[in-house]
Amino acid sequence: MDKIDQFIKYVDENYLGGIKTNLAFKDVTTLKIGGQIGCLYFPKNLDDLITSFRYLIKNQIKYFVIGSGSNILAADKKFEMVVISLKNLNKIIKLTTDKFWVEAGIKDNKLAIELAKEGYTKMEFLSIIPGTIGGAIYMNAGAYDAEMQDIIQEVIYLDEKGFLQFYKKEEAEFAYRKSIFQKRKGIIVGAIIQVEKANIQGLPLEKIATLKKKKKENQPLNLLSAGSTFKNGKSYEAWKIIDELGYRGYQLKGAMVSKSHTNFLINTGNATYIDMTQLIAKIKLDAFQKYKINLECEWEILD
Ligand SMILES: Cc1cc2nc3c(=O)[nH]c(=O)nc-3n(C[C@H](O)[C@H](O)[C@H](O)COP(=O)(O)OP(=O)(O)OC[C@H]3O[C@@H](n4cnc5c(N)ncnc54)[C@H](O)[C@@H]3O)c2cc1C
Repeated sequence: MDKIDQFIKYVDENYLGGIKTNLAFKDVTTLKIGGQIGCLYFPKNLDDLITSFRYLIKNQIKYFVIGSGSNILAADKKFEMVVISLKNLNKIIKLTTDKFWVEAGIKDNKLAIELAKEGYTKMEFLSIIPGTIGGAIYMNAGAYDAEMQDIIQEVIYLDEKGFLQFYKKEEAEFAYRKSIFQKRKGIIVGAIIQVEKANIQGLPLEKIATLKKKKKENQPLNLLSAGSTFKNGKSYEAWKIIDELGYRGYQLKGAMVSKSHTNFLINTGNATYIDMTQLIAKIKLDAFQKYKINLECEWEILD
């Protein structure tokens, strides 16, 4: 019995949550690319997560935490690892009139809508990000001039030794699509967020509807992607550079530059990891040769 089978047995015998086997990264990411994983594990609650995470650490089993898989490009190879999903850690608990404790597995859109219905504002941007709060904190995700760090007060983190830590916002090193958690190997389990009551009733829900409409008009949401591929720079917008290089609609085997938004690279159906990484490399090379710009990929690449 290998280490992953032993982990599955341990989870079963101790009622530590659910397990799914026979899955690949292509089944759990929005790009629908990537090879077989050892298993997908869903703890029922934080206690399960802590116990099983300590087992993984003690037994030196590789692991990876996944949210909605909306920012991941994985290689077409076998990953001998446990992929942890926090989809059952999805509670919202009101702490004070404007502060909430939110678990990391809740979907961004769900949180935005639930709080908007209660009349809160500041988190509407989350309604158009197709990830989870854990992924949004890890990426400091944002849209239309708002980002995660604007609402975070504290992050609750299970560190790589299996102990809970509290990171105040100032300690989380938030920057454009960056956080300290990208340098760590633990798990974001939740956060305390601070929002505001809107002055006008119904305004947050209206704002969400407007943002969703705008997003639908500008991005190819019906195609397989992982959102924007490259980060913007201080002096340039990535989509413009790619457009000026003539890539709109360009196809390299199964990978394609979207016709409607040139910073979205699309899986047309059967794209492989190689197709996608070659297209990324080609655009990067051209951007450097023509403009001396080093485009930085925003996606989490697993190889
Ligand atoms: C159509 C589309 C539109 C998008 N639009 C936007 C946008 O407007 N703005 C924007 O910022 N992004 C956007 N994205 C990208 C993506 O949705 C965000 O980066 C999102 O925050 C990723 O969250 P996730 O839960 O899917 O994370 P995943 O993609 O599952 O994971 C991304 C990284 O976060 C880590 N991670 C996830 N959860 C945890 C956790 N609990 N603890 C520790 N690490 C964790 C993973 O290990 C991985 O390294 C878009 C993507 C798509 C497909």
